[in-house]
Amino acid sequence: MKNIVFVQFYSKVDTPGRPNHIELGNGFSDTHDFCKNIGDIVWLEYIFTDDLQAFDNIDFVISEGTAYISASYTSHVYQVYRWSLRYPKVNFIVGGPIVSSNCLTLKYNLPHNMTLIKGSVEDYFSIPNFSFPWKIEIPTGLTSVTYSYTLENKCYWRKCSFCTFCNVEDVKYRSRKEFNFEFKDVEYNGKTSIRIGSDSLTPFHIKSVVNKLPTFKQLKRYRIFIRCASDEFDAIKQVSNLDRLSFTIGLEFPSQRMWNCINKGYDYDVAINMINYLLDNGANVNLGVITGWNNLIAEDIEEMKKFMNSINRSNNICLVMHELFIYPTSNLYDCYEKGEVVEVGPFMVGFYPKLKEEQLGLNKTACTFFKKWIERRNRDMIIKK
Ligand code: SF4
Repeated sequence: MKNIVFVQFYSKVDTPGRPNHIELGNGFSDTHDFCKNIGDIVWLEYIFTDDLQAFDNIDFVISEGTAYISASYTSHVYQVYRWSLRYPKVNFIVGGPIVSSNCLTLKYNLPHNMTLIKGSVEDYFSIPNFSFPWKIEIPTGLTSVTYSYTLENKCYWRKCSFCTFCNVEDVKYRSRKEFNFEFKDVEYNGKTSIRIGSDSLTPFHIKSVVNKLPTFKQLKRYRIFIRCASDEFDAIKQVSNLDRLSFTIGLEFPSQRMWNCINKGYDYDVAINMINYLLDNGANVNLGVITGWNNLIAEDIEEMKKFMNSINRSNNICLVMHELFIYPTSNLYDCYEKGEVVEVGPFMVGFYPKLKEEQLGLNKTACTFFKKWIERRNRDMIIKK
């Protein structure tokens, strides 16, 4: 092995309906040939665990040299932190979505041989963005994978108050100008889902790119993050073959008052009509909801129930529920009382809010409703903490 390595992680994901499915963090696909010319591209399997001791049981692949790491989760970055202590002769340069998303706040200095970078690989090496052909070599033995094809590294909206993207103006964005969809030629016989990489797909991309996405033998679905707002809905009406697409939509808390409070930019009628339009046209829809707010009122609960009950019955729907988590870089940081604080190594990750009795009750009512709603429809629900 060369003493320069480019590390990408892959992990099994616990997703209903996708047994043995593997998520690939293919951060070097846009610079594949460039990276291979100067080092080795290495895939490392990553197993999620809450046991921090376990991070010291995983050996690194070189003991001297430079490692460029593509990190998707805080736990990836923590793993690199542990390696940087164990391997002082390796210089660890860490980038990837978790670093550029502004989620990581340092409590104390990183080791001398660990650096976080927010820009693209191309920025780091001073080469033009997207100047190499997109490529990926899928690790052997995997039968079903998801990987990413980046359109641009940003959310164009960047206004939701709970989200770390509100405050990322200093990050350099990159936007793909030519769409050659090279992934259709990847040598791989298993099932493939492709994440169309953008933190929230723009109406422009919906109109100009989504209709051109190729259909090929291994394709399972394209996975897309999208807002259910009026410009997006107008654009979606121009898309054919919606049954190849799986949309993840952040509803957060579906009441007009709550959407106004968190700057979601949604309109109640547009949102419900867009979700039903997608379902009626065969798209998969994964709805994200959040509980743990400190400002719910009884009318929010009633409107939320009305909204959820207006969603058409479909086998293509899934609910993803998680507790509100407050990151130091979000605009809600000073608006919430700290409950359970999450810190790992040098990183202050954030906290779960501590709620007053009345708010606990309203959030619990919402949580119970969401669970029963999906049970009644006999569909899958993912609960994340
Ligand atoms: S649309 Fe999504 S990614 Fe964009 S600011 Fe809102 S929550 Fe964050």
